[in-house]
Amino acid sequence: MTTPPQENRYPTALTIEDFKSKLAAVRQKIAAACHRAGRDANTVRLLPVSKTVDKARIQLAYEAGCRFLGENKVQEAFDKWQSLPELADLQWSVIGHLQTNKAKFVAKFAAEFQALDSLRLAQALERRLQAEGRSLNVFVQVNTSGEASKYGLPPEETASFIQSLANFDCLKVKGFMTLACLSDNEQRVRGCFRLLRDLRDRLQQDAPANVQLHELSMGMSGDYEMAVEEGATVVRVGQAIFGARALPDSYYWPTQP
Ligand SMILES: *Cc1c(COP(=O)(O)O)cnc(C)c1O
Repeated sequence: MTTPPQENRYPTALTIEDFKSKLAAVRQKIAAACHRAGRDANTVRLLPVSKTVDKARIQLAYEAGCRFLGENKVQEAFDKWQSLPELADLQWSVIGHLQTNKAKFVAKFAAEFQALDSLRLAQALERRLQAEGRSLNVFVQVNTSGEASKYGLPPEETASFIQSLANFDCLKVKGFMTLACLSDNEQRVRGCFRLLRDLRDRLQQDAPANVQLHELSMGMSGDYEMAVEEGATVVRVGQAIFGARALPDSYYWPTQP
């Protein structure tokens, strides 16, 4: 048995109809996973991830109904936002690691940032957001796979980090984000998702008053159905909607050491 090439697994969406049917297919799988887990399908938000996708295809996705897109790299997201002023109600979520010196870009345009993992970054974002007169929904990224090379806070540092976020007026903390380990072993992948859910359940109890910890952003094209079964409230799906990417995942986040 050979694995099918990525192109076959994730065909490229090239028309509005392609986007509509792919979005419907993913939503249907989310609904089925919710049903298996005894959850209401309306409690899961699908965040389509448009990294590497050009302006023309983003426009098609918009016409197919997308109003919220995720991007890993802030510069790419910022450029797309600037070049699509006509899509005024399209909102952007930055889901990848952010260097402190790029906080100013996020503060200018993003509606959501899912990779908060340091106090320095929180401070930089708060300062830039105040200057812009904006606020930002944020998710704290947690390293649930234990891989030294992955971004995100170690689970044991998360509780004190959450407490320290109480004083940032422009950061609206919503919950947690994680990338599961990339593994064929379903139990290992589920273990990452469960760790995040347990952490949320535990920390929710003594979260500061202005810090909400309800959201769990977990699951991508390869594992979102499992993530939904394990409690995801946001799934970040790129390739299963837009098509396979040419760039390897290691370009976006560090893989195995
Ligand atoms: C690209 C990306 C995704 C989506 O991955 P797909 O394999 O395209 O579904 C999810 N989360 C993050 C942080 C990403 O960078």
